Amino acid sequence: MSEFAQILRDKKLDRQSPDTSTMIDNITTDQVRRHLAQPPGRYSIDRLMALLSPAASELLEEMAQQARQLTIQRFGRTVQMYAPLYVSNVCVNSCLYCGFNCQTEFSRTRLTIDQAVKDGKVIASEGFRHILLVSGEDTKYVTNDYLAELAQRLREDFSSVSIEIYPLDEAGYKNCFDAGIDGVTLYQETYDRDTYERYHIAGPKADYDQRLDSYDRAARAGMRRLGLGVLLGLADWRQETLALAEHAAYLMKKYWRSQVSFSFPRLRPAPHVAEEYEHLVGERELVQMMIALRLCFADAGIVLSTRESAELRNNAVNLCVTRISAGSKTNPGGYSEEDDSTEQFVIADDRDPSEVAKMIKRAGREAVWKDWDTSFTA
Ligand code: SF4
Repeated sequence: MSEFAQILRDKKLDRQSPDTSTMIDNITTDQVRRHLAQPPGRYSIDRLMALLSPAASELLEEMAQQARQLTIQRFGRTVQMYAPLYVSNVCVNSCLYCGFNCQTEFSRTRLTIDQAVKDGKVIASEGFRHILLVSGEDTKYVTNDYLAELAQRLREDFSSVSIEIYPLDEAGYKNCFDAGIDGVTLYQETYDRDTYERYHIAGPKADYDQRLDSYDRAARAGMRRLGLGVLLGLADWRQETLALAEHAAYLMKKYWRSQVSFSFPRLRPAPHVAEEYEHLVGERELVQMMIALRLCFADAGIVLSTRESAELRNNAVNLCVTRISAGSKTNPGGYSEEDDSTEQFVIADDRDPSEVAKMIKRAGREAVWKDWDTSFTA
């Protein structure tokens, strides 16, 4: 068992428990106020439990103000723009919530390097300088060499290239890093082992521990950005947030050179998926989760995708968001081809990138397209 898996087990966070729910439900408003009176930005599990509690929900406005101030203090008024580039919807896994599930029959698309570069050119022409390569688990086609070659080509137009694909071994991550990929986003989906098993019924992704260990491998390979998240809707969001925070705290301590960020993917309708979910997360709860994490992790990135509605994104930009996607297509070739292949999920905010940039400006923030951090650390 890996070091972090053991930590989760010791803290009883790798399986959800009614006792933990009861503890959170019993937190009082006074206890929350005491935590809010402490300097914001420091993590302890007690503090996070308090900020996630139903009692804290009544103090959301006060929490939001602290989160806003802390974000500006640490990140300035900037919000970084990025766009995802889906290179393949071929997948060997069977995740019950996903439109790319291998047991679903539809015509699959994998972009050649030239096709992916063509999509990348469209994204670059919209102003983006930060791109996220996304694919299903497709090790035969989206190989290490494919990623390395594609990254090298994309670096002509992009100052930062990240990946959100299947877990690689350490040598694979190192190879990608050497080719110019500097960030890895990977969602554990759920930290609850039983839920994980229920939703990941076939393929390599069914191995919970292998996935959990991937963040260490990416960090050891030198990746400068580590993106964490859970798929909100699969299990109790409060307990998921505790496990997620423990993961972030562990990675920050052990791999202090890498910046950790949180994403908040909520389950969205997806083609060919007809699942019902017990733990769907409402907008107010989502905002509470984002703010609670900000108030515990002053320097973590907070990322928001086009899964969320324009209205929610408009509000969140003013609170704690540091990175936002825009104009996203979740199907391979979606930027340059007329003929739409199957999407991974249906997006909720379909405004084009310039509209999103204007919205950020109206909120008193500055949309940043270039990743200046790279220039400073090169
Ligand atoms: S979530 Fe990822 S690994 Fe699972 S089926 Fe979808 S694309 Fe494949």
